[in-house]
Amino acid sequence: MRPWMVAGNWKMNKTIGEAVELARAIKEGTAEVKGGEIVVAPVFTALSSVYGVIKGSQVRLAAQNIYFEEKGAFTGEVAPGMAKDAGCEYVIIGHSERRKYFHETDASVNAKVKKALETGLKPILCVGETEEEREQGVTEFVVGLQIRRGLHAIENVDGITIAYEPVWAIGTGKNATPDQAQEVHSFIRSELDKLYGPKAGSLRVLYGGSVTADNIGDLAAMNDIDGALVGGASLKSETFISIITGTAKKRWS
Ligand code: PEP
Repeated sequence: MRPWMVAGNWKMNKTIGEAVELARAIKEGTAEVKGGEIVVAPVFTALSSVYGVIKGSQVRLAAQNIYFEEKGAFTGEVAPGMAKDAGCEYVIIGHSERRKYFHETDASVNAKVKKALETGLKPILCVGETEEEREQGVTEFVVGLQIRRGLHAIENVDGITIAYEPVWAIGTGKNATPDQAQEVHSFIRSELDKLYGPKAGSLRVLYGGSVTADNIGDLAAMNDIDGALVGGASLKSETFISIITGTAKKRWS
């Protein structure tokens, strides 16, 4: 079984002080948890300070986004090397909020995944259908395209994680049922197998979308769900720690 991962996407929340406090509570509350990886993704301004707290622990740092150039006249952007310099090991790429509000396309997502890998950052590539697309029966078509375009011309898949996040489930309290999620995860695994053969075995596929301490057990029990990308429920240490221990219980024995 692949090592599980639970990643917390803090989005545009928490001051530096609040982020440090949350990171410390997560580090202390998960010191005994085994068999997987715990990742937190604070805002850019809090990355270095959070890194100072979690450095050397089992908690890893992620950026919520990067740009695909190394430096230069790109006002407001952050280069992959800068995120790495701040302590990041991971970077979330192509989150649906970035696709929706900041007009990210599969092409820019692909450029970012490539640049992250070149820089030594591990990408967490987000894919997922909208409610309308699900109703139209094109979920697999949409998710398949996002994966093939997002991973276009990438041969070395070491370190890549996919997060399946149905857009209709993000921040809505309406999570995909374990069966609905498993169906798409199984499709994603078959796509990855077609693209990468045996090398695909190391790629984790996380579920994201209204994950809570109550529903994680049933989700993590599904064959092809290797963990979770968590938004709202990652902002409180108690709930995030429950999600982590709930995942570890199902995916590690
Ligand atoms: C997310 O933003 O990646 C997410 C899954 O959010 P939430 O858990 O709040 O639905």
